[in-house]
Amino acid sequence: MTTIQPSVSFEFFPTKTEAGHEKLLNTARQLTDYAPEFFSCTYGAGGSTRDRTYNTVLQLSNETRIPTAPHLSCVGDSKAELRALLEQYRSAGINRIVALRGDLPSGMGLSSGELRYANELVSFIREETGDHFHIEVAAYPETHPQARNFEADLANFVRKIKAGANGAITQYFFNADSYFYFIERARKLGVEVPVIPGIMPITNYSSLARFSEACGAEIPRWIRKQLEAYADDVKSIQAFGEEVVTTMCERLLAGGAPALHFYTLNQAEPSLAIWNNLGFKS
Ligand code: FAD
Repeated sequence: MTTIQPSVSFEFFPTKTEAGHEKLLNTARQLTDYAPEFFSCTYGAGGSTRDRTYNTVLQLSNETRIPTAPHLSCVGDSKAELRALLEQYRSAGINRIVALRGDLPSGMGLSSGELRYANELVSFIREETGDHFHIEVAAYPETHPQARNFEADLANFVRKIKAGANGAITQYFFNADSYFYFIERARKLGVEVPVIPGIMPITNYSSLARFSEACGAEIPRWIRKQLEAYADDVKSIQAFGEEVVTTMCERLLAGGAPALHFYTLNQAEPSLAIWNNLGFKS
């Protein structure tokens, strides 16, 4: 069990329905007891959730008093749209942001928008708003799916940090060694900012498999085989998933990970089960 309690943060996605939004707020209220360093809320590339992300961020921030960071992606949005949104956030007192390239829905291509990569968005935010925002960017210990190779992706990651990011959150992974290797290599290239592992609790095999395929996160064979064997036995999937992810988090923290960032999918229990297993309470 790890003794020093690391900081924790929780990510949500903005919902389309009133009921979904209520659930998100209840989840956030529950998680507030764990004194997270921040909440974050995703953004649909091209602006599809612009208003919902904005409203959710402000509501979370005002109701829970936990600093809440909007995600902001640059593909599909013009500089004028990004500038206006940054100004809205700044005047609402929001001072953290997660800066991303984003993925446009298939068919829209990647050329729309004036900024092509996340490093350009980080530079743009710094040019427009100076040091107002604490900026986090994405990191890919298992390599971004569109990257030429690990080295090219790492160089692009370093470029984002040098453009002015204060930290990074990783894509989720189930192999702690990929994180340690990524950190070792990034540190050698002069990256000193915290790189927080993104943690995905395992609650459902088919959606996890689909999503992992798309975002380039590997489910190791021994985990996949076990999850497949449970078929629709949800309780066993969750118990096994909780054990596997808890053990990985123990290794990450023992190996120097500065914090944990949970992809909650708007549910409190799966993340809290892992956090409590680690011996941390509210
Ligand atoms: P970039 O850092 O721009 O990298 C994208 C690709 O381009 C990589 O292959 C990289 O190696 C390459 N590249 C980078 N810079 C250059 C350059 N200058 N020249 C040539 N190649 C380059 N998506 C959303 O739509 N909304 C969200 O809210 C969201 N939240 C996320 C949160 C986290 C923590 C993470 C890890 C991902 C999130 N994503 C989100 C997914 C993310 O948008 C996708 O993974 C996207 O494909 C890449 O975004 P990025 O910011 O990492 O892009």
